[in-house]
Amino acid sequence: MNLSRRDTLLGTAALAAVPLMTSTQVRAAAPVADKQAPSFYRYKVGDAVVTVISDGKNVFPLTDAFVTNAKKEEVAAELEKNFMPAGMMAIYFAPLVIQTGGKLVVIDTGNGALAKTNSKGNNGLFHDNMAAAGFDAKAVDMVIISHFHGDHVNGLLTADGAPAFPNAEVLVPATEWKFWMDDGEMSNAKGDRMVGLFKNNRNIFEKGLNKKVTPYAWNKELAPGLTSVESVGHTPGHTSYVLASGNGKVFIQSDVTNNPNPFAAHPEWHAFFDQDADVAEKTRRRVYDMVVAEKLQVQGFHYPFPGLGNVVKDGAGYRVIPASWNSSL
Ligand SMILES: [Zn+2]
Repeated sequence: MNLSRRDTLLGTAALAAVPLMTSTQVRAAAPVADKQAPSFYRYKVGDAVVTVISDGKNVFPLTDAFVTNAKKEEVAAELEKNFMPAGMMAIYFAPLVIQTGGKLVVIDTGNGALAKTNSKGNNGLFHDNMAAAGFDAKAVDMVIISHFHGDHVNGLLTADGAPAFPNAEVLVPATEWKFWMDDGEMSNAKGDRMVGLFKNNRNIFEKGLNKKVTPYAWNKELAPGLTSVESVGHTPGHTSYVLASGNGKVFIQSDVTNNPNPFAAHPEWHAFFDQDADVAEKTRRRVYDMVVAEKLQVQGFHYPFPGLGNVVKDGAGYRVIPASWNSSL
């Protein structure tokens, strides 16, 4: 190839375009951005299309209370190994939109409109980013909830307290529903956090949704190729899912493990939000041993975005290897 001739030709083409612009336009720099682009990421599982939608993140200083059976210095040291900001913990949130068998399915709903205001746009972004990804909340057929913590259920309602998915059937784990709707359990609730969770759940499911939900059991196909899997401990009815289509299969772990930094390396560490920490740890080891043995891809709600990866055994714990970004489907 004659490079000098090719360069000359390209140069001529570029020169031809110049008279269309003024000299100011040519030199003008792009405006400095003050926020990230709307964050969503798509991949295929057989014929199903998964769109991971970011709800943002929460970054906060570590305290001794965050991990109930480790000192904050130990946790900080583990985070530092992963080049996380010193003394800080980051938790990400990523609900899913799944197109499978002609159904538009949402799994979990993010922190909601109030969180968006309170966090100054650091989280509560699910609805904005879902719209940016081209999805209309009115077109959603099913919203499936993994468990009743605010970062998963608050996006069920709009800022005005109306149903955010007006035409969707809302599916909830039957065991989770029974626990949070039980007045005896509510009156036995210990501590501000548990009392607040009951209050929040009653507000969402009684006031907001008028109890119009469909409780589901485990090992049931809830939508084409999407099966519910028991993974309790984090909450009494905490649920994961397997999405299988054609040769594709992914394990949607929900909150079996929070951010793998530090909780994959240290499955024995109990985050304060695991309601039954011993059961949660057993579940975490059982699920991670299974996904390691089956080399099953995992989608993690609290993993760094977009939260798809594989798990390997690493010393006494595990390590999550994020899937490579794929620019095509
Ligand atoms: Zn969560």
